[in-house]
Amino acid sequence: MVTIREFQELMRALYYERDSRRGIERTFMWLVQEVGELARAIMKNDRENIEEEVADVLAWLASLCNLLGIDMESAALKKYPGRCPKCGSIPCRCDLK
Ligand SMILES: [Zn+2]
Repeated sequence: MVTIREFQELMRALYYERDSRRGIERTFMWLVQEVGELARAIMKNDRENIEEEVADVLAWLASLCNLLGIDMESAALKKYPGRCPKCGSIPCRCDLK
């Protein structure tokens, strides 16, 4: 089992040097491009490709967070501390939009 923090640390070990040279703006653009590829995989209902693109989106988000000095696990649990941040329920009881 790997935690969100451990995954982010792996991405740092693998890519931080290259990510630093690329910079925040271009790394963000790569993340957006991968989200677009995930959208296309979903539209094609290509299960294997969807899994690959989910992995890429997570990896690029981790790279971006490394450059921004954001700990993904802390940020996620701060906003979602085990319940819906708006209504406080599990499952969420907020009105559908
Ligand atoms: Zn809610």
